[in-house]
Amino acid sequence: MASDPLAGRVALVTGASGGIGAAVARGLAAAGASVALGYARDATRADDLARELAAGGTRVLTAGADLADRAAALGLVTDVERELGPVDILVPNAGVGQIRERIDDVSDADWDHHLAVNLTAPFVLARRIAPGMQERGFGRILFISSVAAFTGGVVGAHYAASKAGLHGLTHWLASRLASDGVTVNALAPALIERTGMLPGATDDLRKRIPVGRLGTPDEVADMALAVLRNGYLTNQVFGLDGGMHPR
Ligand code: NAP
Repeated sequence: MASDPLAGRVALVTGASGGIGAAVARGLAAAGASVALGYARDATRADDLARELAAGGTRVLTAGADLADRAAALGLVTDVERELGPVDILVPNAGVGQIRERIDDVSDADWDHHLAVNLTAPFVLARRIAPGMQERGFGRILFISSVAAFTGGVVGAHYAASKAGLHGLTHWLASRLASDGVTVNALAPALIERTGMLPGATDDLRKRIPVGRLGTPDEVADMALAVLRNGYLTNQVFGLDGGMHPR
């Protein structure tokens, strides 16, 4: 059997202390990549995951940084490069989504914080890491968006706009980096349970999903790994939403 194309690569997954990030990090470790686990406040979950992955033989690093702070985001990359080497696979997955029902419930602080974590940090990380990927002729960037970028969603205007910005970033970057062996895509899930954003399901929520249940972090990770393995797949935004939003 051919070896996994992700084996021996260095991956940075932000938000790895959360539900989806942890599942993606496990998938990358199983593929044989070295994995840097980004976190903000939950060092315990990041450390527990690091111990689990290291026990399976993965080179792993936990890297705490508040990604609302650009300097901290850049420092995170420097730490990863020093400990694990240049980043081949970037999954800017960290995100925030505080529910605001009405447009005038979204304060300036809400707007700035959601844009900073959900859009500016992925941009800053990609801008810092992509040139090295181009030089080495290999790279994978997978942004974690949301169905809200297509539908508006239920979190609020600040969240939907921050995620929609990732789609424009995907298309611009993908078209410029493709010829250097760097793929850029976005995955737009909806209603993924066992995450900090959505710990569980209510009947009301299930009724809104054609499949009749919430998605799982492992289902997001399965799709993320398929996208990351495929060097001919770029410039795409994939929905993963139980049929909520056909495209
Ligand atoms: P989660 O369990 O709450 O994870 C969120 C992660 O983001 C945590 O690891 C958290 O770190 C990190 N984070 C938050 N603010 C940060 C900051 N300022 N700096 C650095 N890291 C920060 O939720 P999740 O569902 O796994 O979310 C992962 C991604 O999926 C997000 O981008 C989210 O928008 C997207 N998404 C989720 C769903 C869903 O239904 N769950 C649907 C669509 C899209 P700490 O815990 O260490 O603070």
